[in-house]
Amino acid sequence: MTTRLASGTTVSTSLPGRSAPNFSMRRVTRKRQYQLAQEKALTQQLLIRSNGQCEKCHEWPDWRGLSKHEIRHRSQGGDPLDPGNCLLLCGKCHSGAHGIRET
Ligand SMILES: [Zn+2]
Ligand SMILES: [Zn+2]
Repeated sequence: MTTRLASGTTVSTSLPGRSAPNFSMRRVTRKRQYQLAQEKALTQQLLIRSNGQCEKCHEWPDWRGLSKHEIRHRSQGGDPLDPGNCLLLCGKCHSGAHGIRET
């Protein structure tokens, strides 16, 4: 008569095939996505306000179109989402606003 040990179970501590947890890093965070959407909406709003013209010289923009200029830059505490802090400027005026002179 042979006695068999009932301990036939093997416990594996290593889990093959499982590497690092699979979560992908988002390049664009949710917050940033929201911000971009807000800025887009604001640009639309400014376009309506400016009637498609530059808000400084009130001319139609050249090939560069209009771009949003922050009167007080966000790095200086300005609110980039406040329409009162933003101007839609033509390329020439926008360059001028940043101290770049065009001939
Ligand atoms: Zn202009
Ligand atoms: Zn600007």
